[in-house]
Amino acid sequence: MILKQRVESKELRTFRALNARMSLLEKERNYCLNLEKGFVGELDFDLLVSQLSNEKYLALNDLIYDINSKVFQIDSLLISNNTVYLFEVKNYEGDFYIEKDRWYSVSDTEIQNPILQLQRAETLILRLLKEIGFSGIVRPFLIFINPEFHLYNAPRNPQIIFPSQLNRFVNELSFKMSGVTSHDRKISKHLLSLHLKESPYSRIPKYTYEQLNKGIYCPCCHTFFTESLVCSQCGYIEEYSGAIFRSIIEFNLLFPEERITTKAIWEWCGQVFPKKSIRNTLLSKFKMIGYGKSSYFIIKD
Ligand SMILES: [Zn+2]
Repeated sequence: MILKQRVESKELRTFRALNARMSLLEKERNYCLNLEKGFVGELDFDLLVSQLSNEKYLALNDLIYDINSKVFQIDSLLISNNTVYLFEVKNYEGDFYIEKDRWYSVSDTEIQNPILQLQRAETLILRLLKEIGFSGIVRPFLIFINPEFHLYNAPRNPQIIFPSQLNRFVNELSFKMSGVTSHDRKISKHLLSLHLKESPYSRIPKYTYEQLNKGIYCPCCHTFFTESLVCSQCGYIEEYSGAIFRSIIEFNLLFPEERITTKAIWEWCGQVFPKKSIRNTLLSKFKMIGYGKSSYFIIKD
C-alpha cells in the first residue's frame, strides 16, 4: 500500500517553468534535465514495485529529512515485516566505469559515487529509525533502472541491482515480504510526520517577473501558443480552461507572494487571451477572497 505518493518536486516544477520562460545557463539546463530524468526513473521503479501485492508492504516515496543539520533525501522506502527497504534509484543511461572507487561516465566525467550516497542515506535513516524506536533491520539497495545502463568493472555487491536483475529482484522481494505489522504502521506514520515538505537546498536560480517571457506555452513541447491554443510546433490542442488553469498554478508556484487576480493572470498569459475566459477559470476553479475591485483568488484546498 502506498502511504506517500510520488509527485514532481517543487524544484522540478519550478525549473521546468523557468526553462520554458527564460534562458537558463547550460549547467542549470543540465541540472533541470537530470531532475526530469531522475523523476522518470523513479516512476519506472514505482511501476516495478506495483507488481508486488499491495498488502505486503507500506511505501513511502520522496522523503526529505534533516537530522542534526544533515539533510538527506530518500527515493523510496518499503516497509514490511519489521524490515525497512531503502532504495536509491538511478536512471543513468549509457556506459560508465569505476576506477579506484571513483565513478565516471564514458566521456570521462566523474560522477558522485552512488554507493557512497546509498551508505550515507543508510547511516542517517538508521539513526532516525533508532530515535523513533524502530527495532527491525534496514536493507539498502542501489537500483539502476535504465535498461541502457552498463557499468564496466562492476563490483560484486548484492546491494547493487542492475537492469538485467530487476525482475528477479522483485520476485525475491515478493517472496521475502510477508506482510505489514502494527509496528511497521507505527514507524511509517512517524516517518511521514518527520518528512520535510521542501528541500532546504534547492538549486533554483534567481529570477524576476520582468525577466520571464509571458504567455501560455504548450505542455508537450514548451513552444508558446500565439493567438489560438493550437501548438504551431507539435500540433497539440488545448482548451482555454485547462491552459489557463495550468498557467495560474505556474504563476502561483513562481510568485507565491503575488495576488492572483484576473488582471495579473491576463498579463501573465501574454495579454492575448480573453479576460472573460480567465475570469471564468478563476471563478470556477479557485476560491475568491473579498468583493469587487480588491478581490483576488487563492487555490482551493
Ligand atoms: Zn507543442
